[in-house]
Amino acid sequence: MCEKLINPDYYSNKIKLLSILKRIEINIPILVRPKVAKMLANAANLLPEGVNLQIDGGYRSPKVQEYLWQNRIKQLGEKKAKQLVGNPYIGTPGHTTGGAVDVSLLDLHNKEINLSAPFKKYYEEQELYSKKITKQAQELRLVLDDVMIKSGFAPCDNEYWHFSYGDIKWAKYYNKKRIYNQISNPKLYYYPLIQRYFYKTYRRIYKLLNKIFNLKTNY
Ligand SMILES: [Zn+2]
Repeated sequence: MCEKLINPDYYSNKIKLLSILKRIEINIPILVRPKVAKMLANAANLLPEGVNLQIDGGYRSPKVQEYLWQNRIKQLGEKKAKQLVGNPYIGTPGHTTGGAVDVSLLDLHNKEINLSAPFKKYYEEQELYSKKITKQAQELRLVLDDVMIKSGFAPCDNEYWHFSYGDIKWAKYYNKKRIYNQISNPKLYYYPLIQRYFYKTYRRIYKLLNKIFNLKTNY
């Protein structure tokens, strides 16, 4: 029997969740293992005054992981896709265990800080250290990295926003045995059907507007 997943903001009001409009997975809420939610609360508490933690993603069903992989290959080519998304056909991608999270930072007004400035897309400069991003973006990336590691997460070499606990990456980083396996029954957590339709439509309109007016930076 599998451990129940919970919302990553469960233990802290310094944690916000990425708007449903910008999420990859909209059939289920953003979810993580309870232990991960506790560690995130700790990380959020360690952040400087006026900076909050945003959770962009957590658990992904194997199906969504596959979809994302295919989509990124189409969008960016296989080489770049490999650096961005865990291959669902090899091993167990961290996000399918409920132990991995994608995080970013929010300012005083809960507006997302662009940690890849001056670039528009967050994955333009995805390694932690980059000479091409602004000094402020670099400093904040290091702040984020620091609080996450201090809270027990393992970082990811080529995705400054990705951290994990209990999965293979974490086990390798700390030279421990992995704790979590893939969770393959996301149906337990599905939003009601009508809500899913609503979100899908809502997001479609948002994406269309985004395309026309070039609204958003990161996603
Ligand atoms: Zn990730």
